[in-house]
Amino acid sequence: MIKARASMEHLFRVFTAPEGRESKLAQIERHLSSNLADFLSQHVVSKATSLEDIEQHFAEFTVPEEPQFVSDHAESLLKNLVANSVNTYSPQFIGHMTSALPYFHLPLAKLLVGLNQNLVKIETSKAFTPLERQVLGMMHQMVYQQDADFYQAHLHSANYSLGAFCSGGTIANISALWVARNQCLAPQGNFKGIAKAGLHSALQHYGYKDLVILTSRRGHYSLSKAADILGLGRDNLITLDCPEHTLDPALALAEGQRLQAQGIKVLAIVGIAGTTETGHIDPLDELADVASQLGCHFHVDAAWGGAMLFSNTHRGLLKGIERADSVTLDAHKQMYVPMGAGMVLFKDANASNAVRHHAEYILRAGSKDLGASTLEGSRNGMAMMLYASLHIFGRQGYQLLIDNSLEKAHHFADMINQHDDFELTTEPTLCLLTYRLFPAAVLVYVEQHPQQAAKVNQLLNDLTVAVQKRQREAGKSFVSRTRLEIQRHAGQKLTVFRVVLANPLTTSEHLQDILQEQLTIAKQTHAWQALLNYCELQQSQ
Ligand SMILES: *Cc1c(COP(=O)(O)O)cnc(C)c1O
Repeated sequence: MIKARASMEHLFRVFTAPEGRESKLAQIERHLSSNLADFLSQHVVSKATSLEDIEQHFAEFTVPEEPQFVSDHAESLLKNLVANSVNTYSPQFIGHMTSALPYFHLPLAKLLVGLNQNLVKIETSKAFTPLERQVLGMMHQMVYQQDADFYQAHLHSANYSLGAFCSGGTIANISALWVARNQCLAPQGNFKGIAKAGLHSALQHYGYKDLVILTSRRGHYSLSKAADILGLGRDNLITLDCPEHTLDPALALAEGQRLQAQGIKVLAIVGIAGTTETGHIDPLDELADVASQLGCHFHVDAAWGGAMLFSNTHRGLLKGIERADSVTLDAHKQMYVPMGAGMVLFKDANASNAVRHHAEYILRAGSKDLGASTLEGSRNGMAMMLYASLHIFGRQGYQLLIDNSLEKAHHFADMINQHDDFELTTEPTLCLLTYRLFPAAVLVYVEQHPQQAAKVNQLLNDLTVAVQKRQREAGKSFVSRTRLEIQRHAGQKLTVFRVVLANPLTTSEHLQDILQEQLTIAKQTHAWQALLNYCELQQSQ
């Protein structure tokens, strides 16, 4: 093999053009562009390779001394990385919120890298800045439906922003609560505000003993990170019980009043529009009332469920979202945009000025640089991907996709309900549902021996874990698993399969196959045998 040399000549070629003949990388690219599904099924090998084995390919811990030809490197990427990746494009990969993407994002991604714009400032992005502001405005309009005057006044104004684009829901949640915090502990008289003076002085100035955020147990863990980063502390994210899977407004009000009576200020209530585990939507309208009664910020985490706004059939599920002070959306979930596309939107176009920051060389006062009020600094033009999707699908296209996912989830729920050996544990809200194996004969046993129910549930938990792991390792299909308290089972915490039916390519046959595969796998496990033995049943059952 001819080795590359560390010469400026070689490096110059790396920056400008590929090696003369069609390089390996160019072949890969051609295959990717002509048929992504085929490329993935050929190169992403679904085999049961353990993570430990894969780690052997990534065991080297010194930087390679000598350069490598791009083609040689491409070979090793294919072999070690691509082959051991996860085929999220597959219609049988229904365990997580990451799914197939429309093909046009592939060439757009190339354009994005080719242009390599930096959205932190106009000087390195130019047209991308107004584009991003427009996309934020469109999403703002989806949520808040303000009139034309409002958008004309704020869309491109240097003094306002309708929101911020960021890498994902986590940063969006942090950004929203950062703004809430700085507004809550704003400058007043001689007090310079928390942004300058810090939390300790701010609490003293305002006479608060502490600062807390209220949400339900189902709140995404990014809220806990936010509480930590913002100086509140993770224990000050108060997660309230939600036996019915959604935050009870009366409970939130009572808890908020109890805390405020002790001098502890409620910074914000966070309502969830589409919980990560089960897809449930909090009663947003009532929570908006609670927030106004407590005099606190109302944030809605709609990272998952926000896309419902596109559907005239289902947008009513999010009633009350338009009363939120801030809203988190993730375009890389149900909007089918590649990862790295989160947004926070603010009802009040002035809100983000609470975190505005200026520097001498960029982000000068009065400039339209987006970086002045975003948490992140250098940022690529991901907004272009959403911009393209919004145009190529249109609201109607998105509505079709969303409605289709929901119908599929209901269809799958019916399939599970009709199957003797499965139990639906949470009904679909949005396109998420949870279920588990619960063989018919075991059900009969439990009905006859109700006092054994808790023990049987434990054995069923073991079975769910065993099946989920084997199914993942077999690599043909994938569902995830989680633990939930289920009322019907005396509030016992059960391990359940979790599926997200967002991939438009998933068909009824795929779903049928998945149930069949799970049953087949189950019968090969020790957990199955242990369950049957405990219930004094024969394997033939
Ligand atoms: C996915 C998700 C997040 C986090 O978003 P990332 O893009 O993963 O950072 C936050 N909240 C909810 C409800 C989510 O579904």
